Amino acid sequence: MTQKQVVHFPRPVLFLMERLRAKGYEGWAVGGCVRDSLMGRTPHDWDLCTNALPAQMEECFAGLPVIGTGLAHGTLTVLVDHVPYEVTTYRVDGAYTDHRRPDGVRFVGRLEEDLARRDFTVNAMAARPGRLADPFGGQRDLEAGLLRCVGEARRRFEEDALRILRALRFSACLGFEVEEATAAALEQAAPLLEAISRERVYAELCRLLTGPEAAGVLGRFAGTVQVVLPEIGPCRGFETLHPSHDRDVWGHTLAALELSEPDLSVRWALLLHDLAKPRCFGVDEAGRGHAPGHGALGADQARQILDRLRAPHRLRDEVEFLVRHHDDALPLTEKRARVWLRKAGEQTLRRLLEVKRCDLAAHRPIPSIRRAEEDRLRFEVLLEQVLAQPPLRGLGDLAVSGRDLMELGVEPGPGMGRILWEIFRQVEEGNLPNEAGALRRAAARIADSDAQNAEKKSPDPL
Ligand code: ATP
Ligand code: MG
Repeated sequence: MTQKQVVHFPRPVLFLMERLRAKGYEGWAVGGCVRDSLMGRTPHDWDLCTNALPAQMEECFAGLPVIGTGLAHGTLTVLVDHVPYEVTTYRVDGAYTDHRRPDGVRFVGRLEEDLARRDFTVNAMAARPGRLADPFGGQRDLEAGLLRCVGEARRRFEEDALRILRALRFSACLGFEVEEATAAALEQAAPLLEAISRERVYAELCRLLTGPEAAGVLGRFAGTVQVVLPEIGPCRGFETLHPSHDRDVWGHTLAALELSEPDLSVRWALLLHDLAKPRCFGVDEAGRGHAPGHGALGADQARQILDRLRAPHRLRDEVEFLVRHHDDALPLTEKRARVWLRKAGEQTLRRLLEVKRCDLAAHRPIPSIRRAEEDRLRFEVLLEQVLAQPPLRGLGDLAVSGRDLMELGVEPGPGMGRILWEIFRQVEEGNLPNEAGALRRAAARIADSDAQNAEKKSPDPL
């Protein structure tokens, strides 16, 4: 058996299998962990399946900490060294009436029946030391890099429409091609995605988007993705009539995505960055297309979409910022860079730089695009410079002190405090360098104008 060299069962998994075997039951590692192992990847978790019924499982694992919340569906979560392992009784799903959840489950005695309910052949393999159960040709498809439904594709997608997005997600993450009949069935069943909860749609889209093959999958299955993101519709085939573009808006979006780091905010922002272009579009006398304000309008739209999908607020806000500013000129002075840094934070600004890098690189390199890229690089350097300067935590970090001010003739007291805080504010905003000479001069200026103001307010009574 070849898998013997490839599946390395962790000790706790062998231990759980042994507990089952000791009472006469079968135990197999199943699903994603087998697939990932055979691909030479390290599985992120291990699931087991067994012919032991829920009550029998509880006996097998007596003395171990367990979580029994899934028991009605046959799943017992067992903790070994604080790591959870899901052990599930072989089962088949009852009828599906809502295109999402079976109306019930039925426990069965044979592993093959359990594997037959699973979504794709590469996910329908089970392994134990020395044996691989692969009744649907999962290993063959894995080697060919093919995602194929177990059984009749159309029926499988109709049973549970989430599988449509799972297929796209696995394809984007594993780099697998969706097998022809599976692809056709998936596209046909796409309208059923309306029945899937938005949280689940969001979760699958996030995994799809951060996969190495995200752009290819979004391009290949744009019509299917459009069911859950109808906003991309107007971008498909929309020509921008501008010399900086040799693709339609959707093609440009995919090209930018393809170039990007697999960061969730960056990928969402790139997916949504030009959504509003068709709505803002106009043609000038020279016949060139322009879409003024598409960043701001697109940002509002991105926010609506992410709210609809119940995305976490932090991600939503960040993506909104990235879309809003993706086409804006970047600050090129230290002072303005500091303002942006304070407003957006370092991480978000770095993401904005990445969004811009990919957006610009997905254009034709006409002079205006080259200049924008030069400015982007300049801002990158500026940002590093600003970040390299130690932050001011309080008055103690200023290059002048109360003692220096006393030398300038300022009396200790609230007036002195006010001068120091004014200097602090100006240094923080980048209006003053944190250098002794400059700060002493500034302090003297402020002290002078304070003195003048005081005179004006209280004129000599004589
Ligand atoms: P990953 O954990 O990396 O997402 P996975 O294959 O382990 O991949 P899970 O969602 O953890 O995916 O599901 C575990 C297994 O359960 C799958 O490998 C598959 O066999 C089965 N499965 C999960 N969801 C479905 C579904 N909607 N329809 C059919 N089988 C499913
Ligand atoms: Mg899993």
